Amino acid sequence: MRVLGIESTAHTASVGVIDETARVVASATDMYRPEQGGIHPREAANHHADLFPDLLETALSQSGTDVSDIEAIAFSQGPGLGPCLRAGATVARMLSLTWGRPLIPVNHCVAHLEIARVLSGFDDPVLLYASGGNTQVVAYAHGRYRVLGETLDIGVGNFLDKLALGMGASFPGGPAIERWAREGRHVHDLPYSVHGMDVSFSGLLTAAKTLQARGVSKEDLSLSVESHAYAMLCEVAERAIAHLGARELVLGGGVACNQRLRRMVEEMARARGVRTFAPPPSLCVDNGAMIAWTGILAKGAGQEIDVSRSGVLPRQRTDQVEATWRVRTRSAVSPE
Ligand code: AMP
Ligand code: MG
Repeated sequence: MRVLGIESTAHTASVGVIDETARVVASATDMYRPEQGGIHPREAANHHADLFPDLLETALSQSGTDVSDIEAIAFSQGPGLGPCLRAGATVARMLSLTWGRPLIPVNHCVAHLEIARVLSGFDDPVLLYASGGNTQVVAYAHGRYRVLGETLDIGVGNFLDKLALGMGASFPGGPAIERWAREGRHVHDLPYSVHGMDVSFSGLLTAAKTLQARGVSKEDLSLSVESHAYAMLCEVAERAIAHLGARELVLGGGVACNQRLRRMVEEMARARGVRTFAPPPSLCVDNGAMIAWTGILAKGAGQEIDVSRSGVLPRQRTDQVEATWRVRTRSAVSPE
């Protein structure tokens, strides 16, 4: 079985095709990069609408299969920016109607967890999801994925992007901060904002900008913000593991591409005897393949919807989705 997945929650338009063994048979992605400042939702949506025809063609030719091999169309229904979500949903509906294939709605955050779960072979991992717009600790309980902790303001990636913009980098800023941080020598004190299971980054952003205005070097500032922000993420992930008695932890989201975050998480988990896994960068960032994979799971559990009921849900919460495939089977690789 092959399913085609469409991703367009924010800056990335992506089409992926995956099979029932979780082999990515095609992946075509393009990221909207604003000329100035952060993401403008309407401009990002226009980018996606312009790019989807080419991405679709590329994905279909990469997969080397006939359209008839594609059994369903999955799409990111939420959460995300309304105009961007609608651009992807429109393509998904059109393909579903034209090819006569079922339409499967997918929650974007759940998809990050499911792709990491299948690639790791772990059965029941906790997810540390660190992306531009979202920062959450997620785990499965009683039929749904539950958000155990999250950011109370901006996502960690958003925080890095905003700071990097002021330091002369373009969007996305996380990779620039990572490069500068490698050359950093001194860690300056910054706010450390952990509130129970939640984190916040706006105070850290203000304090980091103050340090920058005082002339702290890019290198030291980057090292300082990475050290603080990633320690906060490790702390809430560790607390989730401790409370749940979890044995497995996976990473997801664009910030999970960061080598320092990966190392810090691994170190924390190793000390607890917990196994960790981070997908390759192409499957950490937003991508259509993870949507397609979650589509395979959801389809196996009968979660298709009619086009007339397929409106996007920009504020959809992770725990609003019934993970009925988890109830039917706890196997990581077999959706049926
Ligand atoms: P996503 O929203 O999951 O596609 O991830 C995009 C976010 O990941 C942006 O905020 C990027 O700045 C951030 N990001 C990407 N690569 C890195 C990296 N190597 N280190 C830190 N953040 C990163
Ligand atoms: Mg994401």
